[in-house]
Amino acid sequence: MELTANARIVLESRYLRRDEQGKLIETPEQMLERVALAVAEAELYWGQAKDVQQTASLFFDLMNEKLFLPNSPTLMNAGTPLSQLSACFVLPVEDDMSAIFDTLKLAALIQQSGGGTGFNFSHLRPEGSYVSSTGGTSSGPVAFMKIYNAATEEIKQGGKRRGANMGILNINHPDILTFINAKEDAHQLNNFNISVGIKNDFFKALDTGKTYTLHFSDVHGKTIEREVSAADLWQKLVHAAWATGDPGLIFLDTIQQFNPTPGIGTIEATNPCGEVPLLPYESCNLGSINLSKMLQKRENQDWQVDWEKLRRTIHLAVRFLDNVIEINRYLHPELKRMATGNRKIGLGVMGWAEMLIRMGIPYDSQEALQFGSQLMQFIQHEAQIASASLAAQRGSFPFIIQSQFSSQQRRNATLTSIAPTGTISLIAGTSSSIEPLFAIAYKREHVLNNQTLFEINPAALEILSRQQHFSEQMLDEIILKGSVQHIRQLPESVRRLLKTSLEIDYTYHIAHQVSFQRYTDNAVSKTINMPASATIADVENAYRMAWQQGAKGITIFRYGSKAEQVLHAGLKK
Ligand code: UDP
Repeated sequence: MELTANARIVLESRYLRRDEQGKLIETPEQMLERVALAVAEAELYWGQAKDVQQTASLFFDLMNEKLFLPNSPTLMNAGTPLSQLSACFVLPVEDDMSAIFDTLKLAALIQQSGGGTGFNFSHLRPEGSYVSSTGGTSSGPVAFMKIYNAATEEIKQGGKRRGANMGILNINHPDILTFINAKEDAHQLNNFNISVGIKNDFFKALDTGKTYTLHFSDVHGKTIEREVSAADLWQKLVHAAWATGDPGLIFLDTIQQFNPTPGIGTIEATNPCGEVPLLPYESCNLGSINLSKMLQKRENQDWQVDWEKLRRTIHLAVRFLDNVIEINRYLHPELKRMATGNRKIGLGVMGWAEMLIRMGIPYDSQEALQFGSQLMQFIQHEAQIASASLAAQRGSFPFIIQSQFSSQQRRNATLTSIAPTGTISLIAGTSSSIEPLFAIAYKREHVLNNQTLFEINPAALEILSRQQHFSEQMLDEIILKGSVQHIRQLPESVRRLLKTSLEIDYTYHIAHQVSFQRYTDNAVSKTINMPASATIADVENAYRMAWQQGAKGITIFRYGSKAEQVLHAGLKK
């Protein structure tokens, strides 16, 4: 497996298996063999035993050539006794002490195995409510979130990566103001992304200048209601997001509109990075196609998409991810029932920025947006064909009767999802997800305990090295700043092509999210980067744009607003 120095470090420190003394017992190739064989063996279940070796070799090549990689838990755990292979989970939080701690226990086990957990805390009674069993008062959702947070803090010591949580509270919950400001203190809820669950009626109240009703009904039908100014609530929310990056928004009505199995339940939450809205106890296996490998170049011509190679990769990737559901080991019977009932998978992409750079298309252009939609439409369409053909051999997903596909044959309730690909893009040596380059060169901190990694994007280097005035001195300057915008010897067209996240207007970040969302069954994880100088009005505008244009959620990140930042542009000496 061809690997960059950084990829090798990441694999050795967390992915490759070790013996009890901590000695490495596999190479990157052996890791891929382990994963390929375990995933291929799923086909034994459908009586296709003679295909196993052949399928394993197809899966091995797929990963070895870095055309596609599954999410980290699959790479780490496939073919091992643990065999927990999913990255994303949503668990229910019911208004009952024993249910709250049952869910916490399961979340702890999931995080220990490398999965991320999302929860909607809106079913918990507000702070100060009566507790009939004790005669006391309840501490409210945010207090319980702190307990979950503390658990994650300790679990991350033993697990292979940081545990991650998504905590959601609906906009009409009486504790919403406490929730909105819960991350003002950077140390509080540090293992949570938090998002407000927005319902369309809130925007209606906001736009008509009306009050908005906060509401909670407990299981006995006792109701608490309070009228608040919608405008005031909104301003507080937007201000907190501007100051700290939290909370983000989750658009519950949009998510419900696209819920493939409304007959099975209502979706109230997403996984930690937002790319998979899921029902309680559902999980999802992700995998991403490396777009930088889906290009071909004929002699004296520009780079073009190799549609045929992309098609083959999609079909094999869908088969791979469907197999993963079969060999997965589930930590709870309900997790198994939901995963095998809906058989959700999330096929996405990485290397989009690199693809655009090679094709000479600036990220902040209409051409990039149209091309993004076209590409994702192709991926979704081919994934549907692949899933239907698997259904013909293996049967449709069991809950199909209660789904919007009840008249079709289909193996999976969802097929596509755009994940952040934080680590797998590093292993593949390409740009992450559909993000622009964060910097032309950068250092990355905290990825592995206190190690700092340096990276220079290869597509950018390729373009730069073709320029007339390119020199080692110029490269040093680019590495120092992480940007090429200040280098006047470079033509305007090259500077535009190599704009980085913070140099791209936030409206283009949102437009990319929306362009890909149009053809994504699940959701799109996208960081809407803003410069430190962005105003509260910019944040408000971004949040509204995302809702109006059909995003399923939004997270902004204003440079410098978080104390602990994983990525830094350039090298700070
Ligand atoms: N995730 C997690 N902990 C982490 C990183 C990711 O639990 O440290 C989960 C989370 O649900 C996230 C999903 O994995 O939404 C996918 O993240 P990403 O694509 O960055 O993971 P990769 O497969 O690249 O490691």
